Amino acid sequence: MPLLQTLRDDLDVLEAQHLIRRRRTVETPCAPNVRADGKDYVAFCSNDYLGLAAHPLVTQALQKGVSLYGAGSGASHLISGHSRAHANLEQKLAEFMAPNIDQARALYFCTGYMANQAVITALAGKDAAVFSEELNHASLIDGVRLSRAATQVFAHRDYAALEAMLKNCTSKKRIVVTDSVFSMDGNIADIPALLALCEQYDAWLIVDDAHGFGVLGEHGRGVLEHFNLRSPNLVYMGTLGKAAGVGGAFVAAHETVIEWLIQKARAYIFTTAAAPALAHALLTSIDIIAGEEGQQRRAHLNKLIHMFRHGQDLKVWQGMPSDTAIQPVVIGKNDAMLAVAGNLLDQGYWVGAIRPPTVPLDTARLRVTLSAAHTEVQVLQLVQAINRLDQMHYVAQCFAEVA
Ligand SMILES: *Cc1c(COP(=O)(O)O)cnc(C)c1O
Repeated sequence: MPLLQTLRDDLDVLEAQHLIRRRRTVETPCAPNVRADGKDYVAFCSNDYLGLAAHPLVTQALQKGVSLYGAGSGASHLISGHSRAHANLEQKLAEFMAPNIDQARALYFCTGYMANQAVITALAGKDAAVFSEELNHASLIDGVRLSRAATQVFAHRDYAALEAMLKNCTSKKRIVVTDSVFSMDGNIADIPALLALCEQYDAWLIVDDAHGFGVLGEHGRGVLEHFNLRSPNLVYMGTLGKAAGVGGAFVAAHETVIEWLIQKARAYIFTTAAAPALAHALLTSIDIIAGEEGQQRRAHLNKLIHMFRHGQDLKVWQGMPSDTAIQPVVIGKNDAMLAVAGNLLDQGYWVGAIRPPTVPLDTARLRVTLSAAHTEVQVLQLVQAINRLDQMHYVAQCFAEVA
């Protein structure tokens, strides 16, 4: 069949470029020690930054949620799927984010991907001007495309370029869109600089804090607390499947923005509400994040980040200037990176192996993610394993040069 043959040819091209992705099937809960495809690993690739995905209080709350609300919501939020658990979660998130958002209200979404689509398409229309940071997450990029707004991409952290664009903009609906913590680099956007520009040029600032919520800030309120920001221009998106350990996402903003999303955001309206039990479990996650245990977990995570960064001793490959739980090691070519990731797997370490188009060509990288659930020994052993492989590469390179 010619249609199938075309797909097979395209798959062969990916294979030749070392771009075929393969899934490992995990038999155990999300935790540092996992069993996947029949083998045990210490995993450094989840986004479970606080170790809440398998936390006993969170899993108990999930079970309680099922006993209270059953398995599924049965309908979209605007029909009959909006349960007491969803309402309680939105109330809790609004109160939690209130120090950083004026007249805060929150809206719970099935996924962060959908939340980004929803918020961008609802705020931008064909008559809007959208300014999008170069390294934004795919879900933001897709949201911008779907909005059909006039779009300009500004170079990574180039806020002077953004200002020039804003200055020349004639549209009255201006929207700046950025990741807070860049998901493949681990560095943090200068949100205060962006917010100042948005206030000066009367633009919304949509901040995707997928990797900041729960992790950054003394109380875990993410990048807004980290920089101590508060502004009516802010539209904040936090995901709940990463540090919060469960699933879904939320948008927190001025209550008028949230009311508009409920009326207009298609990715909110035209989908079945997430299982209420997830929202019920998230009540416990947020309590942990906001409380003393959350603070202890963040402190331990920060210690591990420090250890990983300062333990690194690389001659050939490159770490990146990241202070967050995302710690990339850039290798370069796809096949070389896959060989390194494969070697680490053989040693029992499972780290993220990231290739284009997720990252630019020739910057294939290991993406190590640290979690409060890791021990210091686990992190030290991983750093040493990476250092050793880098050293071997260095020596091999020297011999190649001599020969
Ligand atoms: C993971 C992620 C998302 C998507 O969130 P999901 O809840 O997994 O759909 C959005 N933005 C960024 C930056 C992310 O890392």
